[in-house]
Amino acid sequence: MDTIDRLRRVTHEVSNQVPALVGYDVAGSDAALLDGLWREGAGWAEERLRALGALAGSEEAIAWGVAANRYAPELRTHDRTGNRIDEVAFHPAWHELMRVAVSHGLHGAPWHDPRPGAHVARLAGFYVWSQAEAGHGCPISMTYASVPVLRRRADLAALFEPVLTSTTYEPVLKPLREKSGALCGMAMTEKQGGSDVRANTTRAEPFDGDTYALTGHKWFCSAPMSDAFLVLAQAPDGLTCFFLPRVLPDGTRNAFHIQRLKDKLGNRSNASSEIELDSALALRIGDEGRGVATIIEMVTHTRLDCIAGSAALMRQAFAQAAHHARHRMAFGALLADQPLMRNVLADLALESEAATAFALRLARAVDRGADEPNEAGFARLGIALGKYWVCKRAPAMVYEALECLGGNGYVEESMMPRLYREAPLNAIWEGSGNVNALDLLRALAKQPSSLAAYRTEVELARGADTRLDAALDALNDTLTGAPVPEESARRVVEKMALVLQASLLVRFAPPAVADAFCASRFGDGGLLFGTLPASTEARTIIDRAWPG
Ligand SMILES: Cc1cc2nc3c(=O)[nH]c(=O)nc-3n(C[C@H](O)[C@H](O)[C@H](O)COP(=O)(O)OP(=O)(O)OC[C@H]3O[C@@H](n4cnc5c(N)ncnc54)[C@H](O)[C@@H]3O)c2cc1C
Repeated sequence: MDTIDRLRRVTHEVSNQVPALVGYDVAGSDAALLDGLWREGAGWAEERLRALGALAGSEEAIAWGVAANRYAPELRTHDRTGNRIDEVAFHPAWHELMRVAVSHGLHGAPWHDPRPGAHVARLAGFYVWSQAEAGHGCPISMTYASVPVLRRRADLAALFEPVLTSTTYEPVLKPLREKSGALCGMAMTEKQGGSDVRANTTRAEPFDGDTYALTGHKWFCSAPMSDAFLVLAQAPDGLTCFFLPRVLPDGTRNAFHIQRLKDKLGNRSNASSEIELDSALALRIGDEGRGVATIIEMVTHTRLDCIAGSAALMRQAFAQAAHHARHRMAFGALLADQPLMRNVLADLALESEAATAFALRLARAVDRGADEPNEAGFARLGIALGKYWVCKRAPAMVYEALECLGGNGYVEESMMPRLYREAPLNAIWEGSGNVNALDLLRALAKQPSSLAAYRTEVELARGADTRLDAALDALNDTLTGAPVPEESARRVVEKMALVLQASLLVRFAPPAVADAFCASRFGDGGLLFGTLPASTEARTIIDRAWPG
């Protein structure tokens, strides 16, 4: 008996497995983030960002992210006695994630504390905290983005802005006036079309002054537990924007019925629903027929967050890959010391840094846009570029990072499958790839000042790198003022985005980063990651990006 027990205890020793990446400062270990934070005017936020970063990298927050995705939200249509309630029940981990996000003002700080750099600081916080868990960023972003639309009606803004920007998280449905903190979603997409919202069929019948009764459906309505929604519906004079509360001032539930929750590829912590409106009462914002023009400001801000969210996914994927390579041996050496793995990691680090720099620069443009027309023009065009390019680079980049972990990367416990499933989403919602590429053509055609602002920005790097100079010349040859054909939209967007990223890196990143980016993105690179020229200073690039 003794002998058998002894034998059983020695089947094998566990070795060469990688410890979990926990207990690190997600913000403080991200040099590209901190450099960008200071450069774009929000250095004052560093201390608070690092505190959030330490929490994001803690065992506790990582466990919240796991639990919020493993225990998906559940729809509760009725209460015990059969009354309709239309509520969604979340795991407590979701609420913890939300509580931290709201208490750090990621859903609204720039609106109640609009100091210079406020949008940069918020975006940096969103980027850091999204690395703990991405799904709850959806209601956080939508609430952030709702305020500029609400401000189109001073009376509504006066009533509801304080509660939408409050740092108290209160996940209980009750009248907005009684809440200490509230969230706002948006409902535009219908069964027959999401990109073409002008095809919306939801009807808005005038009821009493600016109050209308909305009847129809919405095919994708995320975060349905939010306290209010911006909704598009057809009023007598055309598509119009409305503010629809979940609970009416008298405490009764508005006629907002959740039909079912979507069974999604990723983003599983977040509830996305199909809803029906049955004479639901809503307040008009903007004129009848001006729905798209009114809600577009919300879309601008949520698109900015799509870029930040994708940059965050890329950064977290790089962090996991680099951490693994630093601990895992193969063929007698650490993966991180093997030349081909170094090439892959360096290429991933470049992509991540380029995305981070892009997002922070855009946040500065949003910060300054109110006072500086050039920055407003740059934001108009830059957000379309970034939404297309950064969001589309994320899935390929996250996939390559996943493979750095080998088979372990294919297993849920590594976090990589969650990042991978989340990665395509930012490109789809808030205007899918083609729609953004076409939006860029619209900006080129109708807002030449936005192209001028873009040119001013990218030309700042001229003379620093011959490959970038050649790309700038080629772009100038393309953008002659003549209309760009629709079928060429993706080609043009891609080139403009790369030139912008290169111009940021050439000016602000270490020479090894800028040189490798220009070399590989303007000619001497392959189609997949890990194809940087052999002369690349891979170790320098990776050392800059190491997590922890
Ligand atoms: C997880 C998730 C959550 C969501 N949450 C919300 C929400 O809270 N509120 C909300 O309103 N919506 C939400 N959406 C919907 C999302 O915004 C839409 O799915 C998206 O806008 C695309 O619309 P669609 O699905 O109808 O696709 P379509 O409009 O049918 O487009 C299909 C494809 O055709 C392309 N396309 C469209 N027009 C053109 C054109 N002229 N030329 C070339 N190509 C074109 C698009 O780029 C896309 O790739 C959510 C979606 C997802 C996946």
